[in-house]
Amino acid sequence: MKRYSAFALVREALNDHKGWSRAWADAQPKDRYDVIFVGAGGHGLATAYYLGKRFGITNVAILEKGWLGGGNTGRNTTIIRSNYLQDPSAAIYEKARDLYEGLSQDLNYNVMFSPRGVLMLAQTHHEVRGYQRTAHANRLQGVETEFVGPERVKEIVPIIRLDGPRYPVLGGLWQARGGTARHDAVAWGYARACSAMGMDIIQNCEVTGVRSEAGKVTGVDTTRGAIGCGKLGMVVAGHAGVLAQMAGFRLPVESVALQALVSEPIKPCMDVVVMANTVHGYMSQSDKGEMVIGGGADGFNNYTQRGSFQHIEETVRALIETFPMVSRLKMLRQWGGIVDMTGDRSPILSKTPLEGCFVNCGWGTGGFKAIPGSGWGFAELMAKGQAPLCDAFSLDRFREGRFIDESVAAGVAH
Ligand SMILES: Cc1cc2nc3c(=O)[nH]c(=O)nc-3n(C[C@H](O)[C@H](O)[C@H](O)COP(=O)(O)OP(=O)(O)OC[C@H]3O[C@@H](n4cnc5c(N)ncnc54)[C@H](O)[C@@H]3O)c2cc1C
Repeated sequence: MKRYSAFALVREALNDHKGWSRAWADAQPKDRYDVIFVGAGGHGLATAYYLGKRFGITNVAILEKGWLGGGNTGRNTTIIRSNYLQDPSAAIYEKARDLYEGLSQDLNYNVMFSPRGVLMLAQTHHEVRGYQRTAHANRLQGVETEFVGPERVKEIVPIIRLDGPRYPVLGGLWQARGGTARHDAVAWGYARACSAMGMDIIQNCEVTGVRSEAGKVTGVDTTRGAIGCGKLGMVVAGHAGVLAQMAGFRLPVESVALQALVSEPIKPCMDVVVMANTVHGYMSQSDKGEMVIGGGADGFNNYTQRGSFQHIEETVRALIETFPMVSRLKMLRQWGGIVDMTGDRSPILSKTPLEGCFVNCGWGTGGFKAIPGSGWGFAELMAKGQAPLCDAFSLDRFREGRFIDESVAAGVAH
């Protein structure tokens, strides 16, 4: 792989840009790999990358039924923050946020990480107490956040209306080093680095069955034939339940559509991410000037990867209370992704009842921010059988009642 650099740019400019190589190879499936990942989203690709980088395991295939990054990784609103309440969550999300800070350099690929700050509005007294509690917990966990009053909120977001008709802004949880990154670039950057290590990224290859012998995984059936493996990582977000069924066990996850929309591009008016969880709406401004808007998940289980008119109306109506300027915006497009929700709103990073088969899912509405941390920890779990970042997120917790309750931090938020 040729490194991207200012020097390479000049060289290619003088060469009519004829010398660039493909970012990743178009691989054909081999008969067998040491490790197979199902799902070329951010979590699958990041895990493969850290498996190679940290543990030297590179005989790896990443199988994707569509195109890489075409699932939730390419459909999300890119909010990155680590202000969760429970210690295991703070640890994995803060590890991810920390890795995001240096990810462009690490991958030699510009993921456009923008630590512009994330503000979660407190619009009820219940939320004020909840966010003050989170700020205290974060201080103990070494995560930099603070609870700020309404005057500071207005300084951070001048276009906000503090005295909305239903829910006045009473303060907010502010994480100055939270922000956004370019979602496709995260997937593309990891894919390029995996390919450079000799891993095979195989697109248009749907896994249709899981093979096993004597309780141990041996391979998968795909639309491009059977492929053997020593270990299997299932990283398919909203389709985790479908894959688990193929492997012969059940997961405590529900799949629902989560939707988002963007407006026409306008002049820069808001340089932070703002989330209003009481009314279910959040917004940031993309580099192109579009207002990127998201709301709550659908209230019923479904696998429809698209938006609905009713969702636009609900989300926009909610946001207009605090951002009257939204009423004058034209909306350009909307979309949906299938997210996988657990009862405690925390992910599952775990071994499974099938030996050699591991599952990474349950990130629900908020897994983009976790991609580097999840990949870092899940790679260790797959290589060594245990990993400090993942151990609390095992499947056993649902049987043993060790829930990691993030319903406030992640229930409706991102
Ligand atoms: C509208 C929306 C907004 C969001 N906003 C945010 C946000 O602001 N911040 C945040 O942190 N998170 C957000 N999220 C959540 C985040 O996008 C996800 O948690 C994260 O992208 C999950 O990544 P993944 O790699 O696990 O899954 P995905 O990116 O969905 O990748 C899984 C892949 O598996 C493939 N696959 C499925 N079944 C098979 C099969 N049988 N064979 C082969 N391949 C298969 C799929 O095609 C897919 O490409 C949002 C999600 C949505 C939908």
